[in-house]
Amino acid sequence: MSAQTEYNELLAKLAEVNDLHKAAALLSWDQQTYMPPKGAKARGEQLATLSALAHRLFTKSQVGDTLQRLAEASAELSPDENKTVELTQWHYDRATRLPEAFVKECSETEAQAFEAWTVAKKNADFKTFQPHLEKLISQARRRADYYGYEGSPYNALLESFERGMTAEKIQPLFAEMAARLSDLTARILASPNQPKTDWLDDTEWAVDRQWDFSILILREMGYDFDAGRQDKSAHPFTTNFDLHDVRVTTRLHPKMLFSGFRSSVHEGGHALYEQGFLDADRRTPLAEAISLGIHESQSRMWENMIGCSRAFWTNYFPRLREHFPQELNDVTLDELVRAVNKVDRTLIRVEADEVTYGIHIVIRFEIELALLEGELEAADIPAAWNAKIKEYLGLDVPDDGVGCLQDVHWSYGAFGYFPTYALGNLYAAQMMPRIEKDLPQLWEQVGRGELLPLREWLRKNVHEVGSRKTAPELIASLTGRGLEAEPFLAYLEKKYGELYRL
Ligand code: ZN
Repeated sequence: MSAQTEYNELLAKLAEVNDLHKAAALLSWDQQTYMPPKGAKARGEQLATLSALAHRLFTKSQVGDTLQRLAEASAELSPDENKTVELTQWHYDRATRLPEAFVKECSETEAQAFEAWTVAKKNADFKTFQPHLEKLISQARRRADYYGYEGSPYNALLESFERGMTAEKIQPLFAEMAARLSDLTARILASPNQPKTDWLDDTEWAVDRQWDFSILILREMGYDFDAGRQDKSAHPFTTNFDLHDVRVTTRLHPKMLFSGFRSSVHEGGHALYEQGFLDADRRTPLAEAISLGIHESQSRMWENMIGCSRAFWTNYFPRLREHFPQELNDVTLDELVRAVNKVDRTLIRVEADEVTYGIHIVIRFEIELALLEGELEAADIPAAWNAKIKEYLGLDVPDDGVGCLQDVHWSYGAFGYFPTYALGNLYAAQMMPRIEKDLPQLWEQVGRGELLPLREWLRKNVHEVGSRKTAPELIASLTGRGLEAEPFLAYLEKKYGELYRL
């Protein structure tokens, strides 16, 4: 069989696996949006069946043999074809290195741990969760051994979410970020120029008008409603079944005008990424995000750097006022921009603002790293957590429910996931000077509500790349440098220096 014939057969197989995953994604979307509660049991069974089928189809030994022959015939394949083979090999290794018995053991532990975590969090009782956490950590260490790694065992887990990134690269960047953000937060809170937000907090913001405004913004960002839709869900998310069907959800609250807006813009940033893959890459591993961190760079660039900028609101404040004429009658542009960028210390990661958010991530990263490297055990987590919150944010943690039990991630064994949130901020900020160089009118355009030039830049330089590069490769190709914390920290220090007149 020629290499080309064999490659086409591989593509056909990948397309089938892809379709099963996308069908599962659609069932999962429905589960989080419209499914009636009594449908949960059957939906769980259907999802488990589809994912088992996809796994079985993909991990067949013939796939491994085909990949090996194609790797040897690389001279006969195009660069994109070789990249597809390489990525498929990577996915194949990840899917086949864990023994079946171990995978089963992990999913049982995770199911029980999730139940225990729900109770533990509600009662702020770490002891209930601790034995489960001990098992989860031991399994995470074993998983790292099965995957294999260079340097820290943490790298094996990080690789699942952020291919090409290592703990050794992240550590110095995060240490610098924690120190600088901690200092910036203290200076902001000590400033006499605090934003006035009573107009925001004391008003009922009709959710149907919030909804209309969010649709308007998504349209202006260039989100294609013929290839997507927005719905409501308890936790906002983006999902795709194809690049021509990318859906977002939002959550609206009558007391929080900007929470739903930010959700929509954030998920809109994710969605533009997925709508921006190339048609030619459909149903192959090339039409996938580079990493969770790069995905997050897109959402956070739109949400924070664009959606919370003065330039953006110069154009959109009058549009927002058309939706809320009475409520915003006495509010000035300056008050609005300062309110949407209000900084405050909080114990809760998901409530944190742009400045303090990174601190919450550094704390989780440092703890996870110590756990994986055997320097910390489950029992030590609460003390370590509380000490770091005190050190970086100056806050006392009253109980573990608002401390180390607040996030769901560890209960399903997702160690190595948290850094991707903060990496997204770093990637976005490092891309921005290059964007400003290529689009010298960027901020004037944003100030006129012309958001499409930015979308086009991102489409060409990030979205259409698909998975052809790793995150470090993409950043190097765009900026000529390795990943740095400086652009993000400089951006925050400038922006908040002005807002709070520091
Ligand atoms: Zn996101």
